[in-house]
Amino acid sequence: MTTEHVNCLIIGSGPAGYTAAIYASRAGMKPVLYQGMQPGGQLTITNEVDNFPGYPEGVNGPQLMTDLEQQARRFGTDIRYGVVTAVDFSGSIHKATVDDQQEISANVVIISTGASAKWLGLPSEMRLNGSGVSACAVCDGFFFRGKDVAIVGAGDTAAEEASYLANLCRKVYMIVRRGEMRASKFMQNRVKSLPNIEILWNSETEEVLGETEVNGALIKNTVTGEKRVIDISGFFVAIGHVPNTAIFKPYIEMDETGYIVTEKGSTRTNVPGVFACGDAQDNTYRQAVTAAGTGCMAALDAERYLAMKEVEMHAEA
Ligand code: NDP
Repeated sequence: MTTEHVNCLIIGSGPAGYTAAIYASRAGMKPVLYQGMQPGGQLTITNEVDNFPGYPEGVNGPQLMTDLEQQARRFGTDIRYGVVTAVDFSGSIHKATVDDQQEISANVVIISTGASAKWLGLPSEMRLNGSGVSACAVCDGFFFRGKDVAIVGAGDTAAEEASYLANLCRKVYMIVRRGEMRASKFMQNRVKSLPNIEILWNSETEEVLGETEVNGALIKNTVTGEKRVIDISGFFVAIGHVPNTAIFKPYIEMDETGYIVTEKGSTRTNVPGVFACGDAQDNTYRQAVTAAGTGCMAALDAERYLAMKEVEMHAEA
């Protein structure tokens, strides 16, 4: 395996990673950024982003990510395709393996690996994934124009995606596991105002039905015990996200759900020289703009760390 040494390694390419890259490049840190499995991150599967400051008319997610990438390139960030598949943070020089075949060593590492969609965990959901089962209404809703679909979840994402699907589909069943929704009042009202959305309260999915593609779902009412089959062609899951942090587990302190713990008011992890930003360390806000903000913090923290190291080295010499 070949080893390449870099000064600053950034892992992940959402708003956090690209913002860290912009700041690190401008500070002369010569960052190398690996984009990961989904270049651009979660916003590449989002439609309109109306709440990112600076876009009075809104911007679509993929466009926002292309803009951020280009801005990072403009200042010289070395942006590469590739997935970091393992790390070794046991020494003072940090190591990462890319695509199981190339080793990178780095003076500082910025983790910006974000989070991924959660699934219900039903075998039928996995079997029919891509054949009617999806975790992204904006990506796949188009395939179900004029058809009946269901969406599981009751948070802002589920409410937003249900409204999006209601525009395209004949009918949308919203499967909510409790008797109330977690989504903001505004989004709840929106969902409730759309005549082609039917909310199935206190409902769980027992099975997604269909041999080679989705043709229904078996739903159980958890209060009455009653079961019913709904006829649908698409089954969307919008039940939240898990942080993409598994590869860091042996070295980096995390909470019980896998979010990286950072020192209060900073992006410092428990490993000196390793910083974390964006959704990988944020279970509370999880917004593009907060991810970008912590990306900026990570680059500034990393720059200060490198400067301190240099001072220490000169003092020792
Ligand atoms: P959330 O964690 O807020 O909501 C997840 C939803 O899925 C909850 O209603 C939860 O139910 C339900 N759920 C979880 N597991 C299961 C399961 N196994 N079976 C059935 N239902 C399940 O995630 P979101 O992705 O909706 O939102 C994440 C964050 O992003 C939030 O802070 C949200 O406000 C924000 N957001 C903001 C938007 C905006 O401002 N435009 C748009 C989208 C998201 P229960 O309530 O019973 O726990």
